[in-house]
Amino acid sequence: AVQSRVAAVTGANKGIGLAIVRNLALQYPTSPLKAGPFLIYLTARSAERGAEAVNTLNNDPQLKEAKVLAQDGGDTTIKFRELDISQTKSIQEFSKFLKTEHPEGIDILINNAGIAMQGFDANVVKDTIHTNYYGTLEATQDLLPHIRNGGRLVNVSSMAGKLNKYSDDIRNAFLQAAKTDVSACTALMEKFKDAVADGKEKEAGFPSAAYAVSKAGETAFTKAIAMEEEKRNRRVLVNACCPGYVKTDMTKGGGAKTPDQGAQTPVMLALQDIGGRTGGFWQSEREIEW
Ligand code: NDP
Repeated sequence: AVQSRVAAVTGANKGIGLAIVRNLALQYPTSPLKAGPFLIYLTARSAERGAEAVNTLNNDPQLKEAKVLAQDGGDTTIKFRELDISQTKSIQEFSKFLKTEHPEGIDILINNAGIAMQGFDANVVKDTIHTNYYGTLEATQDLLPHIRNGGRLVNVSSMAGKLNKYSDDIRNAFLQAAKTDVSACTALMEKFKDAVADGKEKEAGFPSAAYAVSKAGETAFTKAIAMEEEKRNRRVLVNACCPGYVKTDMTKGGGAKTPDQGAQTPVMLALQDIGGRTGGFWQSEREIEW
């Protein structure tokens, strides 16, 4: 029997997330994962912005031209669903919804939602880690069980989270934590928060940068969860990536790539043959050093 595929993307009302949904729709018909109709949940924390984004894609000239949407005779349907990754309740509601609506499981989850705040102090650090680290972690842990064997989980982390700006001790602690478990990764985030509260993050071996450290943590826990998943003998491939430096609201007009170009690596990790690789960190469609 033809099985239909289901994907979900977080923070997909604009920027790279919106481009990920668009490129999932464009690449699905020729991807090795293709199996019948394709349903993509474009999720966002705002119902208004999310619904508007679905409307934009339903009228997207390139999607129309390619006839990939069901309304134009293709396979793909895009639906809005509310999801705020900074709220446990919202993640639980989405998880419950998937369980009810898709008891057979989903195929793809792309955790793209993230924030980059101005300035550096204990509150900025707390809020940034709350969303980028804890929010993405909770979405990963709650939703991974809904991904069926052969599926993909992709976390959109960042090259800002590379380990080239730490003391040797902290760098090694990150590498070790990623090979140990999620709680070791979380302990590093808490250590950073405490050090910042004491005004001593530099002495502790961290940079004075909330976003960078939150993304190092995201890459770390993604590797830890990929390893756990392998131990469970499941075949869900779990990878982290950097989209590149992309022109979006986050980069305020900076950025070398368009959102469509930024979407290429996450979409490849979701739809294409990646040789069974799990626990990797990717950029420009290849695995790179963390
Ligand atoms: P944007 O700021 O343009 O978009 C971020 C998206 O995340 C928005 O849809 C935003 O929703 C959503 N979001 C923020 N907080 C939450 C939340 N709590 N729950 C759900 N959604 C949320 O950024 P980009 O598109 O540039 O970034 C997308 C991802 O790519 C991020 O994880 C970012 O860190 C990463 N990245 C980006 C790079 C770049 O050069 N742009 C480089 C490296 C990584 P809303 O509209 O409601 O605010």
